[in-house]
Amino acid sequence: MRILFSSLAGVALALIIGALIGHFVSITAAAWWLAATFALFALVHAGYLATLHHWSSLPRQRSLPAGLGPWAPILARLTRFARQEAENRQELGSELERIHTAVDRLPDGLVVLDRYDHVLWANDSAENLHGIFGTRRPIHHFIRQPEFARFLEAPEPSGAIRLQLPTRPGRTFEMRLHRTDSDQRLLISHDITDQAKLDAMRSDFVANVSHEIRTPVTVIAGFAETLLTLDLDEASRREYLGNILRQSHTMQRLVDDLLMLSSLESGTHEFDEDQVDVHQLLSRLLAEARTLSGGRHQIELALDGPQRVMAVPSELESAVRNLLTNAIRYTPEGGRIDIEWRVKDQEGWIAVRDTGIGIPVESLPRLTERFYRVDRGRSRASGGTGLGLAIVKRIMNRHGGQLHIESEFGHGSTFSLRLPTQRLLADPPLPRIEPAAIANNGQAAGPQEG
Ligand code: ADP
Repeated sequence: MRILFSSLAGVALALIIGALIGHFVSITAAAWWLAATFALFALVHAGYLATLHHWSSLPRQRSLPAGLGPWAPILARLTRFARQEAENRQELGSELERIHTAVDRLPDGLVVLDRYDHVLWANDSAENLHGIFGTRRPIHHFIRQPEFARFLEAPEPSGAIRLQLPTRPGRTFEMRLHRTDSDQRLLISHDITDQAKLDAMRSDFVANVSHEIRTPVTVIAGFAETLLTLDLDEASRREYLGNILRQSHTMQRLVDDLLMLSSLESGTHEFDEDQVDVHQLLSRLLAEARTLSGGRHQIELALDGPQRVMAVPSELESAVRNLLTNAIRYTPEGGRIDIEWRVKDQEGWIAVRDTGIGIPVESLPRLTERFYRVDRGRSRASGGTGLGLAIVKRIMNRHGGQLHIESEFGHGSTFSLRLPTQRLLADPPLPRIEPAAIANNGQAAGPQEG
């Protein structure tokens, strides 16, 4: 509106001046004035139109001049628009740059495929994982596994497939395809090695547990069936019932160990630390071990470490008991078992040394795996569950300590529980002994032993 008025005002002014010239000078002069004025108007407008035309062919690289008369607000507005557009573009550009950098840094590979499964775009991870270079090449040039081709060709691929990629030996990737709005699809490659290992461990574990339970259950069912169907004399009946009881105990131990292990692993087991009197604990376990051995082994205890440590009493007891049971289990009759408590390199060491069958060196790193046994038959025959050392290792980890194993095949083994220095508690000072008491008894009270 403003432009229309100012243009009309300009024309009106030229006409008024023309009329005045006609009135005061001559009609010819007025005609010349009007002709000259309108020619100037036309020239100015043509000049600005030409400038606009020139600018509009490359608006991002050219700037507009300041305008005259009605052109002033038009050009000012266009200049403002152009500046705003340039700023928006720059902002958008840096935003895009940031998104690009972030997407390139993603550990997951991202590939955008067109409707013919040709690569339109890939992030850095995808380029490295699949060796993608350039665009417009079919994705199966880079991922050549037949199962991937089948996955890609499925009418509406859903879910995911797991693949091993030649560029990353030993690792497992999960590939997923998502349809985007248009005809494009997004292929995501995600490293699931840890998850795959966990899945394998879980299914191994379930298979192992089922196997361990099946054996005693089969035996119990067999004996029970015999007892039911055959008319047995009292001695045979007692023998069969004894077998059933033994197998039940094996199952009970297995269930107890499984529950203990799962509560240690899930962290639901309370970590109720307390002062533990190691001397008293080991003396009690020595007596227990001697009973279990039934005189078949010589079992000795040496106490050279501090009396008390900070630990979860039941867990420390369970760990030592496991080592002692194993020592008895895997040491033939007549062998010797030594229990030692001492401080070495500022750590507390509870060592159980035996002169038993020992462990082949290649088995040593696997001993703390769940259900690993060097000799499956021997372990089962002696009531082992294959979970003992796995439990001991987790208990030691919870205490910030370690299970240390040394063994010589055929000669014996030493299993040591290493407790960190901060778990060792200083012994209370010895009670002061009056000189008179020494004189009376002829000797001083020494530190407690055994
Ligand atoms: P198990 O219930 O079978 O004893 P563990 O986890 O306690 O299970 O031990 C794992 C395996 O380590 C045993 O099956 C056995 O082969 C071996 N082992 C453990 N302690 C000893 C030992 N003192 N001497 C020889 N072998 C041992």
